[in-house]
Amino acid sequence: MARYLGPVCKICRREGQKLFLKGDRCYSDKCAFDRRPYAPGQHGQSRKKLSEYALHLREKQKARRIYGVLEAQFVRYFKAAEAKKGVTGDILMQTLERRLDNVVYRLGFARSRAEARQIVRHGHIAVNGKKNDIPSYLVNEGEVIAIRAERRDAEVFAGLQESLTNHKTPAWLELDVENLQGKVLHLPERSEIDVDVQEQLIVELY
Ligand code: SF4
Repeated sequence: MARYLGPVCKICRREGQKLFLKGDRCYSDKCAFDRRPYAPGQHGQSRKKLSEYALHLREKQKARRIYGVLEAQFVRYFKAAEAKKGVTGDILMQTLERRLDNVVYRLGFARSRAEARQIVRHGHIAVNGKKNDIPSYLVNEGEVIAIRAERRDAEVFAGLQESLTNHKTPAWLELDVENLQGKVLHLPERSEIDVDVQEQLIVELY
């Protein structure tokens, strides 16, 4: 399964905002965007007025990068959203949010979506009691996403239960700290997705 392997902090600098792609580092004084809040490269500090097209393109790139999705997959999500009844932008955002790696991140089982993706790929997660190692799996209402009992002692989960006591879980998910699992109460509404993306610009781009 393909994924972006380049330097992630450059992505925030390119998009001109913090995208929180690196977990704890994003909240520390080591954040590259806080240190150098301008685009990377030789001309990064020179001001450029973006064209209409570039504005739309940047918004799409930002959404793609926040969720760690490659272009081809993103286009598939868009086409599927467009084919459904309802507001295309809202359905697109809901689809991205329903990805299993994102849900693992939202439940607080990982510090970033990249780490969540790895946790899923390494077989630490079960959906409805069955191992699921597909980060792009889209969760459904009523499903239970859990850290598999036999993997709870893995190093990556050290101190997790304590850290989850203050975790803010979105309203569409219910976190059970004791059993290290979460339930999908309902599919997320756009208002429940705290991602700074103007999806209308993406719809207009395509
Ligand atoms: Fe972005 Fe986080 Fe890197 Fe800061 S530390 S530039 S928020 S990925």
